[in-house]
Amino acid sequence: MTLSSLFPSIKKKYGRRGIALMYHRIADLASDPWDLAVSPENFEAHLKVLKDHNVISINELADILTKKKKMPANAITITFDDGYRDNYLVAKPLLEKYNTPACFFMTTDSIGKQKEFWWDALERICLQSPNLPNKLVLEQPINISWDIGSSDNSNVLSPFDLYLKLCGIVRKMPSKKHPAFIKTLEVWANNPHERPENFAMDKKELLDMQSNKLFTIGAHTMTHPFLPYFSLQYQKKEILGSIKYLEELTGNPINFFAYPHGGHNQNTLEILPDLGITLGFTTHADHFIADVDKHAIPRFQVNNWDGETFAFHLNSWIKN
Ligand SMILES: [Zn+2]
Repeated sequence: MTLSSLFPSIKKKYGRRGIALMYHRIADLASDPWDLAVSPENFEAHLKVLKDHNVISINELADILTKKKKMPANAITITFDDGYRDNYLVAKPLLEKYNTPACFFMTTDSIGKQKEFWWDALERICLQSPNLPNKLVLEQPINISWDIGSSDNSNVLSPFDLYLKLCGIVRKMPSKKHPAFIKTLEVWANNPHERPENFAMDKKELLDMQSNKLFTIGAHTMTHPFLPYFSLQYQKKEILGSIKYLEELTGNPINFFAYPHGGHNQNTLEILPDLGITLGFTTHADHFIADVDKHAIPRFQVNNWDGETFAFHLNSWIKN
């Protein structure tokens, strides 16, 4: 019996802590409802700040957590979710310039597709359509009759509220129904024009990425579902499908996984270890210590901050 096992809260407070950073996109975006993008300029400023910190690769972190090695002081690991092409075009050269390791969690059905992720398609439809109709009526796949207009009228949905409602609907929908639903909305809004800057990496780019030892590829499901909404069977198909795709493409085992939208339940936690996943990452904002649940490692989302603001947040995450 150790002091820290008698007093777990003391251990959490004073045990050596690690931090996982979560990025999504490195891009200048005019509209970014989920704060997913960091500008290239700000990202470079973050990398300069990180040069004064102990950044470790995800493989080093796995080694520490699985082999019960001593956690280095203030270890930081960097992750990217979704697999946007800007990770390859913009983040990769900057990470190389500063010799900084990172892991990229890929949504495999989007690799090489000339199609926006569903949340970007909905953003285009709801927030970028010049002539959004003032009524949306649908019978399939769900019954909808909504008035859309200015947000100062409480009886109508603002375009942003419409966007949030549609995101909620698509999150609960099996992915095979996504294309027809998005198509219906594109026709309704008369805005079918995919934006290539929002596409995911293609196979060649992904392989080029993994050819640099600084970078590790992880899985993020096939179609980015909110896993707890779905059966064990469906979850398994999504998770295993993404792992197999990446293992066949890269020729390497895939050991790391990030939960889309951070969502996981008991079924997910039972599936992952059987599929060879050693570390699973959530979106819960917290630091972790060496005896963290290896399949529920928290991460801090990094927003589009300048270097000084990033350093401020980083220091508060390390200390608090
Ligand atoms: Zn994601």
